[in-house]
Amino acid sequence: MKRTGMTRPLDTLGRIVIPMEIRNSMGIEIGEPLEFYMDVEQGFMGIGKYSSGVSCNLCKSFLDLTYFKGLLLCKQCILDLKGNVGVRPIPAPIVKEPMHKEKKVKRRSSQELIESLKRLMREHPTAKQNEYAEWLGVSQGRISQLKKLL
Ligand SMILES: [Zn+2]
Repeated sequence: MKRTGMTRPLDTLGRIVIPMEIRNSMGIEIGEPLEFYMDVEQGFMGIGKYSSGVSCNLCKSFLDLTYFKGLLLCKQCILDLKGNVGVRPIPAPIVKEPMHKEKKVKRRSSQELIESLKRLMREHPTAKQNEYAEWLGVSQGRISQLKKLL
């Protein structure tokens, strides 16, 4: 912290003008919230940028803030969103087509499948995963999912 040599009078409403030179070197914009710090014992106070909670959730701007679905957003970000500026959708995950065989099989509940799998595992303890899958008419992936539920 250094002494700037700049002084400003406090007006009758308790206001003070922060010199433009200071605003510029601190990167403080008009309308930006500032926070006061004080040390009563030392008779010293300071002003700093206040940044938590009152800035745009997307770009951290302090200007033209509005609540949108419970989030603070600035006017520019809202305009950008409206115009799809910088919007890049995440590609939808590729859903594997179910095998032809599965389409005919009536979808059974996991519980039914687990019971059938338990029975098969008792009857054929040495069978491989793909054999269980074939007997139950489900994919091998489904069998390993079901095994985790056992
Ligand atoms: Zn913004």
